Amino acid sequence: TAPGIITTNGHFASVGDAAHDPKAYEHGVQVIDGDKEFNSNLSRYLTLEDVTNAGFNYHLISVFGSQSTGKSTLLNKLFGTQFSVMADRERRQTTKGIWLSKNKVIHEDPKSRMADNILVMDVEGTDGRERGENQDFERKSALFALATSEVLIVNIWEHQVGLYQGANMGLLKTVFEVNLQLFLKDKNTTPRSLLFFVIRDFMGSTPLKNLEDTLLEDLSRIWASLSKPEGLEHSTIHDYFDFAFYGLPHKGYKPEEFSAEVKKLGTRFREGRKGRKEQVLGESNDGGVFLPEYHRRIPADGFAHYAEGIWDQIINNKDLDLPTQQELLAQFRCDEIARGVVVAFDEAIIPFEDKQAEGIRAGAPLVLGGLGPAMRSARMKTLKNFETEASRYHKGVYKLKKAELEGKIDTRLKALFHGQLNAAHKAGVKEFSEAVSNAVKAGQKKGASYDFAEIVKQETKAAIERFEKEARATLVEGAPWSNYKQELHLYQKDLAEVSGQLRRDEMRRLATRVERWVRSRLSDSVGLEFNSLGSGRGGSGAPETGDKPAENQIWDRIWNLFVETVLDAERRFTDRATSFDASVDEVDVGLWRLRRKSWVALREKVEEEMMEGNLLLKLRENFEDKFRYDEAGVPRIWRPTDDIEGIYTRARESTLTLIPLLSRFRLADNNSPPPLDRWVGHTPSSVTAADEEDLTPIGGVDEEEGKSLEEEVTILNDAKRQDLTVRFKKAADGVYVEAKRSAIGGITQ
Ligand code: GDP
Ligand code: MG
Repeated sequence: TAPGIITTNGHFASVGDAAHDPKAYEHGVQVIDGDKEFNSNLSRYLTLEDVTNAGFNYHLISVFGSQSTGKSTLLNKLFGTQFSVMADRERRQTTKGIWLSKNKVIHEDPKSRMADNILVMDVEGTDGRERGENQDFERKSALFALATSEVLIVNIWEHQVGLYQGANMGLLKTVFEVNLQLFLKDKNTTPRSLLFFVIRDFMGSTPLKNLEDTLLEDLSRIWASLSKPEGLEHSTIHDYFDFAFYGLPHKGYKPEEFSAEVKKLGTRFREGRKGRKEQVLGESNDGGVFLPEYHRRIPADGFAHYAEGIWDQIINNKDLDLPTQQELLAQFRCDEIARGVVVAFDEAIIPFEDKQAEGIRAGAPLVLGGLGPAMRSARMKTLKNFETEASRYHKGVYKLKKAELEGKIDTRLKALFHGQLNAAHKAGVKEFSEAVSNAVKAGQKKGASYDFAEIVKQETKAAIERFEKEARATLVEGAPWSNYKQELHLYQKDLAEVSGQLRRDEMRRLATRVERWVRSRLSDSVGLEFNSLGSGRGGSGAPETGDKPAENQIWDRIWNLFVETVLDAERRFTDRATSFDASVDEVDVGLWRLRRKSWVALREKVEEEMMEGNLLLKLRENFEDKFRYDEAGVPRIWRPTDDIEGIYTRARESTLTLIPLLSRFRLADNNSPPPLDRWVGHTPSSVTAADEEDLTPIGGVDEEEGKSLEEEVTILNDAKRQDLTVRFKKAADGVYVEAKRSAIGGITQ
C-alpha cells in the first residue's frame, strides 16, 4: 500500500488512509510522497481547510535547505503547523517528499495579522553528504516549488554563509537554472519570486548586512556562471528574484529570543504593497512579503489539478511549459465549473422542458406560466456563476468555454422560447376565432345588424395584445435570440387568414340570407303573374283592357321583375359586404353567385307553377274566363241562339296559344330567350372551386356543361306540350258540353 511516515506524535498518515479521515490531515497533506507519487487528496485537503473557494486569495510558501537544519521546526513555530521534526536524540531524516499545510496561526492584532490562506510547503532537504542520488529530487522539487510558490524560504546556518562550495550553493544554482528553464517561454508574464533567506543560529556578531552582501555576491557569481539562453545573457538575478534576509537566534541556547524573533518574522507574512522591487528586511522596513507580482495566478479551486499536472510533467522529465499547463488547467476547470452550473440550470429548466414536450406530444402546446422569469433567472445565474469562478482562468480558454456554455444553454432556452411563442400563437388564433364567432352569434341574437368589420378589428387588436404580452413576458434579456418580431409577423398573418375565412363564412351567411329573400320575393311576384293567367279576358293579342296585362308579355314581365328583384338584392348584398371589409373580388364573386342562384330560384319557381296539374288548372281557368265572360267581363247566360260553338272555338284557340308561349321563356321583343349569359356576367377571376361547388349549371352560361340556352329556357318539352294540349282540349270540351246542355235546358248558371 501507500508509503506512510511516522510522525513525532506517532501518527501514521498514509496517502491511502488520509482520504476520508479529516484527522489524518493533522500534519498537513503529503503532496508528493517518498516515491515521488502525487497525492490526489490535495484537493480534498484544500476543501477541508476552506481554501478551495478563496479564488486568488491564498499564498504559497516553500521552504528549502539542507536536511536537519531546523526547517520543519521553524515552519511549525511560524505557522502553527505540525510538520514532523527530528526528535533531538535521533539523527535521521524526517521530512520525505513534499508536505503542505495551511497556516494555523491566528493573530488577534490586526496590525500583525498574517495574510489569508497561507499554504506552506515543507520540502525534503538534501544531506550534504548524500548529494547525487537526491540531486534529482532536489531539482524536481525546486521546479515544483517555483511553479507554484510566491516565496521561497531558504534555510541556512550562519556559519555556512560564504561557503561558496557548500550544499546550499548547489541548491541555489539548481533553483536559478530551473527558474530560467521555467519562465523562459513566457517572458512577458514572468512571475517574480521572493528568496527569503532565514539565517539560523544567527549570533549577531557579524552584522546581518554583511551576511546579506556576502550571500548576494555569491548568488551573483552563481548566476554569472550559468549558461543563459539567447537574449538573456545580460540578465541578472534581480530580474527574477527579490531578496529578503532574516537572522534567527539559536533555538536551543536562546529559546526566548528565538521565540520572539520567530513571532516578529511571522508578521511579515502578509500582503505587501505593489511595486516594491526589493524586500529588505530590517527594523525600518515592515512591508509584507506577498507582493501581487509573486502570485502564480492559479485560482484556489484549480490549484490541486494544476499542481498534479505540473508534477506529472516534472516527473516524466517533460519540458515544463507553464502557459500550456495553465491552458490545460483552464480547460479542465472551465468544463468542471460549467458542469457544476448546468446542474442548477437543469434543476430550474428541465421541468419546463418536460411540460412543454408533454404538451407537444399531446398535440396541444401549452403556454407555460412562469417560464420567462425562470429562464431569465436561470440564464443569468448560470452565466454569472460560471463567470465568477471560471473567469479567473486563462482568458482565451475562459472566453471559449463561456461561449460554449452560452451556446448550450441558449439552444435549450431558445427552444423553450419558441415553443412558448408557438403555443401562444396556436392558443391566440383559436381564441381569436372563437371570440369573433361568439361576437357574431351575440350580434345575430340581438337581431341588430352587428358590425362584423369592427368585431374583427377589435378581436385582432386584443389577440395581438395577448400574444405580445405573453411574448414579452418570455423574453430573456441579453440573449441574442430573444426577440419575437418574426413570430409576431407570422401570428398577424395567421390572424388575417383566419379573419378572411371568418369573413368568407360571414359572406356565405349573408348570401344565404339574400338568396332566401330573392326566393321569397320571386315566389310572390311570379306566383301573381301566373295567377293572372287564370283570368283569360282580353285574349291573346287583344289590346289591354283595364288592369289586365297582355298574356303574350308574361315572360317580359317576369324577367323584368326578376331583374329588378336581383338588382335590389345585389344592392343589399354589396352594402352589407362592404361594411365588413370584404374585398372587391369577394363582393364580385358573391354577386356572381347571387345572380346564378337567383336564376335557378326563378327557374324552380316557374317549374313549380308549370307543374302539370297547376298548368292544366290555369289553362282551364283561362279558357273558362274567355268562354264564360263577354268582352265587357259580364258572365254569359247561354241561350240556344248563341254561337256557343264559335265562342268556344275562339276561347279554346286563344288559350291554346298559351301552351307554346309558356313552353319557353322568351321575351316578346325579339322572340328570343333572355340574355342570361350577359346578365350573369363574366366569371370573376378570383372564383375558387369552393365557390363553384354548390352551383347548378346554367344552359347557355356554362357552355361546357353541354346544355344550350334554348334548353335552359325550355319549360315544357314537346311531349309534355302535346299531352297538355290533349288534356286541356278534353277539359274544354267538357265545359263546352256543359254550356250546350245548359243552353238547351235553359238553365242559367
Ligand atoms: P529539518 O530536517 O530541516 O526539517 O530539521 P528539523 O526541524 O527536523 O530539526 C532537525 C534538528 O535540528 C532537530 O533536532 C531540532 O531540534 C534541531 N533544531 C531545530 N531548530 C534549531 C535551531 O534553531 N538551531 C539548532 N542548532 N538546532 C535546531
Ligand atoms: Mg523537516
